[in-house]
Amino acid sequence: MSEKRRLALVVDMYGCPNRCRHCWLGHMPNRVMEEGSDEWLVELFKPYFEEIEFYSWLREPDFAPDYRTRWQRDQELSVNAGPKRFELASFWRLVRDADYARFLKESGVKCVQLTFFGLEATTDRYVGRPGAFRELLKATDILLANGIAPRWQVFINEENREEIVQLLKLTEKLRLKERTEAIGSTFRFFVHAGSCDGENAKLYPIRIRKQDIPEELIPYYLNYQENYPESELCQRWQDDDSCFVPHNEGDIVLNVANNYDLFFNFTNMHPVWKIGNLKTDSIEDVVRRVVEEDIWALREARRINLGQLVRLYGDFQSQRAFEEEDYRMYLLNRHLEANQFRFVTLREVPGLLEKAAAWFHEKWGVPEEAYRECMEPYLQGESEYGWYLCLQNERIVSGLGVIANDFHDRPDLTPNICAVYTEEDCRGQGLAGRLLNMAVEDLRARGITPVYLLTDHIGFYERYGWQFLDFVQGEGEETPSRMYIHH
Ligand code: SF4
Repeated sequence: MSEKRRLALVVDMYGCPNRCRHCWLGHMPNRVMEEGSDEWLVELFKPYFEEIEFYSWLREPDFAPDYRTRWQRDQELSVNAGPKRFELASFWRLVRDADYARFLKESGVKCVQLTFFGLEATTDRYVGRPGAFRELLKATDILLANGIAPRWQVFINEENREEIVQLLKLTEKLRLKERTEAIGSTFRFFVHAGSCDGENAKLYPIRIRKQDIPEELIPYYLNYQENYPESELCQRWQDDDSCFVPHNEGDIVLNVANNYDLFFNFTNMHPVWKIGNLKTDSIEDVVRRVVEEDIWALREARRINLGQLVRLYGDFQSQRAFEEEDYRMYLLNRHLEANQFRFVTLREVPGLLEKAAAWFHEKWGVPEEAYRECMEPYLQGESEYGWYLCLQNERIVSGLGVIANDFHDRPDLTPNICAVYTEEDCRGQGLAGRLLNMAVEDLRARGITPVYLLTDHIGFYERYGWQFLDFVQGEGEETPSRMYIHH
């Protein structure tokens, strides 16, 4: 498969100094990716794309300490294409490195966008770093001194709206309009609420209501006329049977997290949007998913229409302001996150046998073959002792099985739930509990009750109706284990 469209590979190689409360990508841990990962990634995609733009930054640009050589390297690694600079820069670096503004100027940057959330305390709190507001003011001066126009982007909500009026007054006091004109450019100040995506979705409760946008800010409000109260969009779309399916029209842009998880750049980097992992998945399959836009989130987006989304997740009373596209994405993300876990029996997804056997083996160290020997009779209808999985996107995140005897000295206490496991990042959400209930009900429907399980845990299984029965001797164990029963 060779794809004619250009690929932009945007990689989180260095992280970000900030933790902005509006970050549409979602908060991710900082980590410097290992040397050579840039070349490895480009080589991985080279057989499939004739043109590749390589970016070593996904969050803060130029956060790499050797940003000059890094920028060179991004250009050298790109294939039949070159990365762009955009009107973005690191304000963190601007105030720490006297040479950085010169580098920006030499690289052809004419304007740099700086982001505010109000006055000092509020901006510091929203950026997640004390001193951020003063750095932004200082960065503004440095840019002007180097002949680069600053542009102030301001995020508004119900909490900071009055402060933003003060911020506008500050731009007048600082004479930013005149000072930017003096370098032959134009100063721009613009206000918006941002997409309701990633971290910013958590600010939905204080999202600005259209009628609360201060009068003085309306001339500066981005696409003011195209912002609608949520209630109006709900009314308008409640019978709309079209689907909202994000799509790559031209270039394909892929975001690579520092653990090699791959995402489209349509929205935030939540696991529901994961295309795959570049270290563990086959690249042929990953590229197929990218080109065919074949991931669970997009299949789900093709299945549910806008009217259903509005009726399920919209607030018909809300005056919160949204642009149409942002509201569609907000609704879709709410739906995906609400339905991110699928609970299935292995019979419903027989194609997952190998993956499931490998997953249980990885968690418990029992040979894959042993799992296959239990799963195959279940799939072939020779046994009713089932295997139960929780899937998030394409990934198994929780699972358990049923076998006759979980390696103990009481063969009369049968069958046994075994191999209960939930991935660490998905714990505390009741996934194993739902699988336990599913298994118990499924067995009961087949006339198999009671069911037993062997564990060393105290307190967990009780939550799901299990009762301690007795101590039994596990094979190869020094001390007896607890046997539980569910009627
Ligand atoms: S919004 Fe930008 S600067 Fe802020 S945390 Fe996200 S990536 Fe970093």
